[in-house]
Amino acid sequence: MARDTVIVVGAGHIGIACAHYLARDGYDVTVIDQGEVGGACSQANCGYLAADHVLPLTQPGQLGEAFSSLFRPRAAFRVRPQLRPELLRWLAEFGRRCTRRHMLAAADVLHALLDATMHEFRTLLADPRLACEWRDEGLLYVFESERALGRFADTDALQSHEFGFAGRFIRSDELVAFEPALREGLAGGYHLDICGHVRPDRLNASWAALLQGEGVRFVEHCRLDRIERMGASVEALATTQGRMQADRYVFATGAWSRRWQDDLQCAIPVEPGKGYSVTMTRPESMPVYPILLPEKHVGVTPLEDGLRIASMMEFAGFDSSIPEFRIRQLQESARPFLRNATGPAIEQRWYGWRPMTWDSLPIIGRLPALSNALIATGHNMLGLTLAPVTGKLVADLVSERASDLPVDAVAVDRFG
Ligand SMILES: Cc1cc2nc3c(=O)[nH]c(=O)nc-3n(C[C@H](O)[C@H](O)[C@H](O)COP(=O)(O)OP(=O)(O)OC[C@H]3O[C@@H](n4cnc5c(N)ncnc54)[C@H](O)[C@@H]3O)c2cc1C
Repeated sequence: MARDTVIVVGAGHIGIACAHYLARDGYDVTVIDQGEVGGACSQANCGYLAADHVLPLTQPGQLGEAFSSLFRPRAAFRVRPQLRPELLRWLAEFGRRCTRRHMLAAADVLHALLDATMHEFRTLLADPRLACEWRDEGLLYVFESERALGRFADTDALQSHEFGFAGRFIRSDELVAFEPALREGLAGGYHLDICGHVRPDRLNASWAALLQGEGVRFVEHCRLDRIERMGASVEALATTQGRMQADRYVFATGAWSRRWQDDLQCAIPVEPGKGYSVTMTRPESMPVYPILLPEKHVGVTPLEDGLRIASMMEFAGFDSSIPEFRIRQLQESARPFLRNATGPAIEQRWYGWRPMTWDSLPIIGRLPALSNALIATGHNMLGLTLAPVTGKLVADLVSERASDLPVDAVAVDRFG
């Protein structure tokens, strides 16, 4: 008997994960992408499996930071002045949710998703064919000032009280013994051993190769241009490689998702949140741990053959420039912390558009007006970490299996 067919649009972390779980359920899956597999925001991010990131971006005080950044072009969290009605609406809705109550409600949802995704990741990454430099050594938070360290102590206490996990506190005089790549004289740190890290481009490549071996087709440079509807279902996709048809469709188009809200007949409030990374060849002193520097909003990732520093959140539409000052800023931010913040040569300057939602939660679920279509987008700063749980949830929904995940909290109809 012929298997049911599914087309997944978008081959980032999310599209690949959806393809995996759907193929595992026996569907005949084709993934199309306007570019290359893993070529957009899923390419050169920090690579953190950030199981501890339960607290969303929508936190008290965050809106004030966004507005003050209008006048500070070098701010790490920056809104570039622009009069785009959809961005103004997005910021207003984001601002409404920057309260402690909303923060904790979103954190509950993220906690459930993060727990489930780490469980899936551990099973997936046990397969040696997913060669992606996976390390299960946790994530190290490091602070320069006592004040910032104290603020994180409050966060740690909250996370311990509300969500049952805590970091291991590392005193100033213990830090360099714990992580020899750090400079002396820092205030202290916290080690979150529930996290891990991978090299994202290698994960995408090995995962796609594995799936191809199992019959999943990846069609690169195939752009979706139009969605053809017939009544309450999707009839076909008009693409640059011709008309394509399947029994079901999954839209995993990341930061580009808003474009499809008319065709898919639902609100998809996703804004691109641009971040940058610089990847250098190995410096003399390489960190053992991935390191987060919250005072600078910067993440440092040790790779097998290099060092990556990544950061920034710019709301500037689909701006694709990589200003040199941002790359220098990344390197300079890490300098007070690392003995060697720069490697001998820069291998890659990169930007990615994160798919940002105004409530900090992803959008995963059935499309209310279309019986054979689903959406999986809006993963904000956690698309790598949340990829397996997203793929699993999509497959559960397609197969009409019950799920104990917070399905309603991530459903698209929450936007009306
Ligand atoms: C600096 C930085 C650091 C980050 N660090 C981390 C981290 O450590 N851990 C973590 O979990 N997350 C991290 N993230 C977030 C993470 O990268 C994103 O959440 C994730 O990549 C989103 O995945 P995606 O598949 O939804 O989007 P994408 O990877 O952007 O994939 C969407 C795909 O859809 C395709 N597409 C769009 N429109 C069409 C169309 N019309 N036709 C065909 N194809 C189309 C695009 O070409 C693209 O390949 C980071 C992001 C940045 C920028």
